[in-house]
Amino acid sequence: MRMAPRGAEPFKIKMVEPIRLLPPAERQAAIKAAGFNIFSLPAEAVYIDLLTDSGTAAMSDRQWAAIMSGDESYAGSRSYYQLQQSVESIFGYRYLAPTHQGRAAEHILMTMMVKPGDRVLGNMHFDTTLGHTLLKNAEPVNLVTAAGLDPQVDAPFKGNIDLDRLQIELLRHASGEQHVPFVLITVTCNNNGGQPVSMANIRAASEMARRFGVPVFFDAARFAENCYFIREREPGYSNKTITEIAREMFGYGDGCTMSAKKDGLVNIGGFLAFASEDLYRRAVEWQIPFEGFATYGGLAGRDLAALAQGLTEVVELDYLAHRIQQVGYLAEMLDQIGVPRVRPTGGHGVYIDAGAVLPEMPRELFPGQAVTVALYLAGGVRGVELGSLAFAHVDPVTGETVYPARELVRLAVPRRVYTDRHMEHVAAAAAEMWTRRAELPGYAIEYEAPVLRHFTARLRPV
Ligand SMILES: *Cc1c(COP(=O)(O)O)cnc(C)c1O
Repeated sequence: MRMAPRGAEPFKIKMVEPIRLLPPAERQAAIKAAGFNIFSLPAEAVYIDLLTDSGTAAMSDRQWAAIMSGDESYAGSRSYYQLQQSVESIFGYRYLAPTHQGRAAEHILMTMMVKPGDRVLGNMHFDTTLGHTLLKNAEPVNLVTAAGLDPQVDAPFKGNIDLDRLQIELLRHASGEQHVPFVLITVTCNNNGGQPVSMANIRAASEMARRFGVPVFFDAARFAENCYFIREREPGYSNKTITEIAREMFGYGDGCTMSAKKDGLVNIGGFLAFASEDLYRRAVEWQIPFEGFATYGGLAGRDLAALAQGLTEVVELDYLAHRIQQVGYLAEMLDQIGVPRVRPTGGHGVYIDAGAVLPEMPRELFPGQAVTVALYLAGGVRGVELGSLAFAHVDPVTGETVYPARELVRLAVPRRVYTDRHMEHVAAAAAEMWTRRAELPGYAIEYEAPVLRHFTARLRPV
């Protein structure tokens, strides 16, 4: 347990939602009924839910007050203008198009900009970004540095773009060999464990892209966490506010897509924001048919109002310091137990290296799923497998199974929902899983869907 007083949660609690740890026999029955798949568990059977940090944040009293005063006008809602002001003051982008989620913003950006055969460059695209790129018959290109991909390298900015590879891609674009519609920088890099991108890397990538006349956009889902890491880890930023850092960062781009379900501190929502009116006009052409009128974009006025307030709270230093420390506290406790994990700790969760927890278990028996089920049985904790169950697939040409690089289990921490005491319970469950690791069964698939099987698969222990 942490002994020196580093400061506790920077909020007090004025509304509670009861949660219950089911007795062990009931947890056993629940996971069996769910086909040993945590996606099929009713949330009520879960004590501490670390499935995702998306849409799971607790809103503040001020956000709830904003909900009550949201303006539901179809056009020109007051809540839209509040959101526009919040976004402009933090991102520096004047032109705002709300959407119902982050992926809707991606859909619009891709529809505006991407043609078949294009190469969409980025550090590492999120799943939905990758999906939208493929839907446009374009090619998603991940240019994250080699060090960023090595789980043993403890570097400060493992979300950085490899600038040499970026230059090669842009030179091919300039020579007409290929077309690059834009560079998309994802901050923090979700699919690489929530690792941040440095300001120096963003600046260099942006200068290079602009020299070649290629626009730069941000996938800003966790922009505040990225800015906090810049403040902590990059020389020259320790005296700046998060908003000052965000303004500099977004200044290197032409606009962004945002999933407000992360650093918007709301349960639903997203947006596109642009520096130029021209890009905005093109986005609205697609926003209106797909999402809704320009000033609501598939959201209720009250959702816009809660997001306008949430953005002002997510850039507060006290909030971010606690957020990042809480994730770090869970990681430290796992280190003390000896549970292997991906380093360094990212912004929004801890990634257990299940392949190293169960080195003897063949990958066909899903070691990540074995650890995930063991955590649930030990303490009602729901994490998620990000290994062979989620990502292994059969190569259509060779007929052989292609395995992902690693067998991971992610414990994603929702924002402002759990206390550090809850994290201690999670660590205790991990300790029990670790003690019993020699006895953990592997799993075999009883049912699987042809695509995205991990969401609905049924398994049995073997
Ligand atoms: C969640 C996420 C998205 C997609 O946003 P949704 O709101 O879930 O549609 C896009 N990019 C990143 C980095 C994300 O984490």
